[in-house]
Amino acid sequence: MVAMTSRAAKPLAAAAIAQLEADGVTTLIGTVVNPAGLTHAKTVPLRRMSTFADPGLGASPVFHVFAIDQTGIVFGDAIGVVGDQRIRIDLGGLRILGDGFCWAPGGFFNQDGSPDPYCSRGTLRKVSERLSEAGIDAVVGHEMEFVLVGPEGGELPSHMWAQYGLAGVLEFEGFVSDVTEAATNSGVAIEQFHPEYGRNQFEISLSPQSPVDAADSLVLIRIIVGRIARRYGLRVSLSPVPFAGSVGSGSHQHFSMKRKGVPLFSDGSGPAGMTPDGESAIAGLLAGLPEAQGILCGSVLSGLRMQPGHWSGAYVCWGTENREAAVRFLAGGHGNPHGANVEVKVIDPSANPYLATAAILGLALEGIQRKLPLPPEVTVDPASLSEAQRQESGIAPLAQEQVAAIGTLDQSAVLRGILGDEVVDAVVAVRSYEQQNYGDLAPEELAEKFRLAWSV
Ligand code: GLU
Ligand code: MG
Repeated sequence: MVAMTSRAAKPLAAAAIAQLEADGVTTLIGTVVNPAGLTHAKTVPLRRMSTFADPGLGASPVFHVFAIDQTGIVFGDAIGVVGDQRIRIDLGGLRILGDGFCWAPGGFFNQDGSPDPYCSRGTLRKVSERLSEAGIDAVVGHEMEFVLVGPEGGELPSHMWAQYGLAGVLEFEGFVSDVTEAATNSGVAIEQFHPEYGRNQFEISLSPQSPVDAADSLVLIRIIVGRIARRYGLRVSLSPVPFAGSVGSGSHQHFSMKRKGVPLFSDGSGPAGMTPDGESAIAGLLAGLPEAQGILCGSVLSGLRMQPGHWSGAYVCWGTENREAAVRFLAGGHGNPHGANVEVKVIDPSANPYLATAAILGLALEGIQRKLPLPPEVTVDPASLSEAQRQESGIAPLAQEQVAAIGTLDQSAVLRGILGDEVVDAVVAVRSYEQQNYGDLAPEELAEKFRLAWSV
């Protein structure tokens, strides 16, 4: 929707509402995602659409510190019971969901309309602006891995299931075709949708978009998948480890960058065809990855997935098409029409996707600005190297202990510079709460307890 001057705003809004009504819409859902990765929502009757956009609907600052156990609020010096902010939807992102609903992505603002430093969408917008100021355009493509479960989170039968098997498509064919149709109707561009390695696990990949739009699309496809699953009496686990001891779910993000229309990851003279800026972008990402881990995969469950042999990128290194490297490089060419890009495999669905993108693009920009040199490519499974070889090549494992990942984030001047103290403090607060209250649970108990914690 176009930016509206105040005089033109009313008739334009009235026309938009009339059009939505004609499309059968009665109810608008606006969402925000908090530092613990929880998706929150408010709904309004359609006639309140403009008010939801500006001045927005009231919400307590404690939204930023809601914890994953359904009740926890992590009060601190900065966030308490006093104060009220506004959630404003962005009408530019409004999409029709069907069955009388439409949806729009939201962000947090102060009552005077100024941006709220805790807002994850606003934080990503700021990082995007910093990239633009540096003359760089980035696009991001999300992957959504998820496991279908029963209405109470129970494991579904999997008598007919093979890794990436056709049986998975046919067993759930109504679900697959309804999700595909609903995504098309809502304007979400699916690149592919397929059964994954894990039992009853699927993956949907989305087309690359500008960073904020891409994260919005991930939120939207989660809503779509959740709605359609319910139609079949199922639920969707967005836990990084839905079942202990089995394969986890990632929320990988791909990105590519251009400067004045010229790609940074191809047509250069560096390794894998990278330009010097492309090399430095990956170098920046690798250098900051241990500090960003608390943002990318920092939940109490995330460490169970962050293990060698799980295709989750447990080692900090990069390699072309290397699925055990934290940063997988995909070369451009006929087989890869979107062009060369970088996949950050470590991100999991417990992360706030806006903050995860902000962290990785911020680190890439940091690398470019500091002209960091790219470490050598790793062309083998890093786990197949000896400890001594890994040390010699500077390949470190990411932390498996949540307390270590969060402590490193807390101490990170770089991440505080990229995301702001408020965001880092809020993430550290909600993740430390998880650690303090649930860190002692056995993996099976943890997986069970939080299997549906991030579900929508
Ligand atoms: N499920 C794996 C993960 O936890 C990723 C599998 C793949 O490479 O697609 O990240
Ligand atoms: Mg996958």
